[in-house]
Amino acid sequence: MSRIVVKFGGTSVADPNRIENAADKVQAEVRRGNKVIVVVSAMAGVTNQLVDYCQQIDPGCDPHEYDAVVASGEQITTGLMALALQKRGLSSRSFMGWQVPMICNDQHGRARIDEIPPENLENCLDNDVVAVVAGFQGVSRSGRISTLGRGGSDTTAVALAAAVKAHRCDIYTDVDGVYTTDPRMVPQASKLEKVSYEEMLEMAALGAKVLHPRSVELAMAWNVPLQVLSSFDPKIGSELPGTLIVAEEDIMEKQIVNGVTYTRNESKITLLKVPDMPGIAASIFAPLGESGINVDVIVQNVSPDGKTTDMTFTVPKGDAARTKSVLSSLDQLQGVEIRIDNDIAKISIVGIGMSSHTGVAKTMFTTLAENKINIQAITTSEIKISVLIDEKFTELAVRALHSAFDLDQKNVG
Ligand code: ASP
Ligand code: MG
Repeated sequence: MSRIVVKFGGTSVADPNRIENAADKVQAEVRRGNKVIVVVSAMAGVTNQLVDYCQQIDPGCDPHEYDAVVASGEQITTGLMALALQKRGLSSRSFMGWQVPMICNDQHGRARIDEIPPENLENCLDNDVVAVVAGFQGVSRSGRISTLGRGGSDTTAVALAAAVKAHRCDIYTDVDGVYTTDPRMVPQASKLEKVSYEEMLEMAALGAKVLHPRSVELAMAWNVPLQVLSSFDPKIGSELPGTLIVAEEDIMEKQIVNGVTYTRNESKITLLKVPDMPGIAASIFAPLGESGINVDVIVQNVSPDGKTTDMTFTVPKGDAARTKSVLSSLDQLQGVEIRIDNDIAKISIVGIGMSSHTGVAKTMFTTLAENKINIQAITTSEIKISVLIDEKFTELAVRALHSAFDLDQKNVG
């Protein structure tokens, strides 16, 4: 007998029919003797609609009332799921965030979970009642409804799994797992059986959209095994049809490279002839940080004359113009030329085996060179190498790296 938290995303509860399909899976888990807690998102598209309603009335609306409105989508699916489970002969009841309670801090619209007293849920588990918990929402200490930020119900599920010490947290979605790269771009992409939390975090941060990065962080901190699987597949979670995201120690055969990711959502900013003196980097990046601009890949050249140097970094495309205006207003940068290049892509390879193998960077750079792709900047971490290239070579680079690192699924493409 296992304790499992199962979460259904918006497309998996998009209408009463889909909810019944999800309820069948919960029933199958219970029949196997498992104790289950269910977490649901709002029906696909509903939260967007609710956000839009708020903005129609007041684009800068009060975050307390914004949360009261946008949390309501999950109330509907929670009740409907409990009804569908009751129809299948199971005891079940719904829980809103405040009823669990999921106690959050006061940052409305992007609240963080402080604690989850487990008594109410333990009570359900002991009495074979399937608790159906609203994802995405909680309650602040002052008793107001709060939400965790868009995509937050993955985080709800993992937090509950940690609170009741579940054996696994199954995230049902519309894809059947995590892939070595984007299967829409590379038909030879293959589904990963297992990835480590660290790899998944890098992949999520780099654009693999299957899981909310915060939920992966939380799963790693609490050591909750996660599974991503499709609710459109007839199999249930306990048959392990999806991708398991687990601690590195639980992966026997560590792949050197497990994934190739890309993002076209960044712009490259180049500052020419920046005065080369102590404190200059801080005086550039501190104001950007204060303006909420997230800076990635940073490269600073050595100064040929000891007086000035060039600096390159990336920011989200949507923030490029604001970056330029913040920097132009700085006294230290008067006379410095600021260039923006929007036609770039960041291509990354990710793998935990990388930290103990040499030659990975060489393979990456040689492969790009063989395809006549120029590298504009490079960054690395223990388990990742990212390069900036001309956007028009994105697909070529991803495909070439995918096969260079032997990730191509045989017999496809
Ligand atoms: N319904 C919320 C959203 O669309 C939370 C979630 O689905 O994860 O952002
Ligand atoms: Mg989601």
